[in-house]
Amino acid sequence: MNYEPIRKPDISKIAVKPNLLDYKKFREKFRWEDVRRELEGFEDGGLNIAHEIVDRHIKTPLKNKTALFWEGKDGENEKYTFYDLYKFTNRFANVLKGLGVRKGDRVFTFMDRIPELYICLIGALKAGAVIGPLFSAFGPDAVKDRLKDSRAKVLVTIPRLVKTVHEILGELPDLEIIIIVNKRKSPYDLQNMEVRYEELMDRASEEFEIVKTRDEDYAIMHYTSGTTGKPKGAAHVHQAVLGHYATAKYVLDLHPDDIYWCTADPGWVTGTSYGIFGPWSNGISQVVYEGGFGASHWYSVIEKYKVTVWYTAPTAIRMLMKAGENVVHKHNLKSLRYMCSVGEPLNPEAVIWSLRVLGLPFHDNWWQTETGCIQIANYPAQDIRPGSMGRPFLGVTATILDENCDKELLPGQEGNLALKSGWPSMFRTYWNKEELYKSRFKGNWYITGDRARKDEDGYFWFVGRADDVINTTGHLVGPFEVESALIEHPAVAEAGVIGIPDALAGEIIKAFVSLKDGYTQSEELRIEIKNFARKKLAALACPKEIEFLPSLPKTRSGKIMRRLLKARELGLPEGDTSTLED
Ligand code: AMP
Repeated sequence: MNYEPIRKPDISKIAVKPNLLDYKKFREKFRWEDVRRELEGFEDGGLNIAHEIVDRHIKTPLKNKTALFWEGKDGENEKYTFYDLYKFTNRFANVLKGLGVRKGDRVFTFMDRIPELYICLIGALKAGAVIGPLFSAFGPDAVKDRLKDSRAKVLVTIPRLVKTVHEILGELPDLEIIIIVNKRKSPYDLQNMEVRYEELMDRASEEFEIVKTRDEDYAIMHYTSGTTGKPKGAAHVHQAVLGHYATAKYVLDLHPDDIYWCTADPGWVTGTSYGIFGPWSNGISQVVYEGGFGASHWYSVIEKYKVTVWYTAPTAIRMLMKAGENVVHKHNLKSLRYMCSVGEPLNPEAVIWSLRVLGLPFHDNWWQTETGCIQIANYPAQDIRPGSMGRPFLGVTATILDENCDKELLPGQEGNLALKSGWPSMFRTYWNKEELYKSRFKGNWYITGDRARKDEDGYFWFVGRADDVINTTGHLVGPFEVESALIEHPAVAEAGVIGIPDALAGEIIKAFVSLKDGYTQSEELRIEIKNFARKKLAALACPKEIEFLPSLPKTRSGKIMRRLLKARELGLPEGDTSTLED
C-alpha cells in the first residue's frame, strides 16, 4: 500500500520553528557528549536524573514556572511549580532516608496518576533508590512477581490498592515498609509495616542533599512482558536522562512555551521517559490527567489546558477515530501544534485521519522498554511517509540484519531490526537475568526482536514482532500490513492478525476484527471485509478467516496481544497475562 507522503510544513510560515531543522546536518554534528554539556551533572562528574529534571531549574527563571497541571479523575485540579516539586521531592527523599532507604534500594510505587506519584518517584531518585512504578490496575500476581524479583524494600501505595498488597505480603520477605498515600482522605487504619505519607511529609525537611549517583548507577526499572515465562525487569541508569532530554527536544519538539500532554501511565516506560524525564529535563509544563480514556474527556483536557504538544498511542488514536468526528467538533483544539504516537505500528489510515480531522498528522516513533528512549522517529521538519516509523534518531544507528543477525541487508530487504549499542538510555541488564540480557546482543548490535525494512532514503518500515510474523506458503507476512488494510474498511475499528498452523500452507492468516459503533456483524459484512482486503493486499497476505470480536485483547499500554489471540485460537496456555487490560 502506498500513500502519498505528507509534506513537511513550510518552515517560514509556522510560528514555532522546529528544534531539528535539518536532519542530515544535525545528524552529522550530533554528539552525546554535547548533550551531556547541556545538562548540569554534579561538580565531581556524577549525575542524578532528579537533579536534571527538577533541582537544576531552581537556580533559573524556571523556578516559578508551572511544571505540572494535574487534572483529577473527578475534576479536581492542582498546580505545581518546579520549586514546589523541588520542595516536595526533597521532603520525600528525607522521608525515605529516615526510613532507612540507602542508595540502590528498590522503591516501588503502586498508585494512580496523582501528583504524589510523581513526587515519590522523583524523591526516591534523590535518595539514590532504584524506582519501579507499577500500573494501578495490576492484580496481586503481577504486583507480587515484580516486587519479589526486584526485592523491593519499600512500596508506596494508596488505600484503594493496599488490599491487593495484603494478599501477597506473605510472599514478599524483602518488603519492609509500605507507605500509604491517602490523598482523598478515605477512612483507613494502618496495618503492620505501614506508615502514613502525609504525616511523614509534614514532619520532613524541605532541604535535602541529593545522593550523588554516578552515570552508571541504576535509576529505574520497568518490567516488560515476555511471550512466555515471567516479566523481566529492564534496568536503566541515571545516564538515560541524556536520551530523554535530547529526544524530547528534537523528536517531541518541546519549546519553552509548550503545554505538553503525554497520555501514558508511568507504569510503562513512555509514562516515565516522556511523562516525567523528557519534558521536565527540558523545563516544560505538562498536564497529567488521572482519568482513563474517553474521547470527550480527552478533547476537554486539550481544550482546557490549551495543550500544544500531544504524545499518545495508536490504540487511543483508533479509539478516537471510532468515536467519530462529531465529538471533535464540539471542542476547540486549536492550541495543538504537534502530535506524536508510539507503542504500536501507527496505521497509515490513522495519520491521514488525524490530518483531515484534527488538522495535524501524528508523527510515529519507535522504541522499546529496553531502549529507554525514542530510537526511530518522524520529525517536524521532515516529510512523513504514512506507515513508516521514520528515521533513526541523531546519535542512533539502526540497521536491518539477515536471519542469523550476521549481515546487514540492503534497502528494501526485510529482516531483523537492530541498533548499534552504546546510546545512553539503553538498558543495562534484565534484573537477575544477565544471560537473557546478553542473548539480546550479537557483536555490537542489539537485536530488537522486531522485523522491519529500510527504504532507499533511510526510512524504516515496521513489519511485526519477530514472534508475530506469519509464514504462509513460504512467504513472511507481517500482521501490521494486513491489519492496516483491514482498518481502512469503514466498519472496522481494530484488527489483530495471526497465523494458524495449516498442513499445506504452513500457516494461514486469520484476522480478528472489532467493529465501529453502529455496525453489526453479519456474514455479508465478513465477505465484504474479505473482498475489501483482497483489493488492498497481495493474494497471499489476505486473511483466509475473519472472526468478529467485541474488542481485541490489549496490554494496558494499548498493544494488541496477538500471541493471546493465537493461544486462545489454538487452545494453548496463555502465558504471562499480567499486563492484559481488564
Ligand atoms: P514495549 O517494550 O512494551 O514498549 O514494546 C516495544 C515494542 O512495541 C516494540 O518492540 C514494537 O514491537 C512495538 N512498537 C513500539 N512502537 C512502535 C511503532 N512506532 N511502530 C511499530 N511497533 C512499535
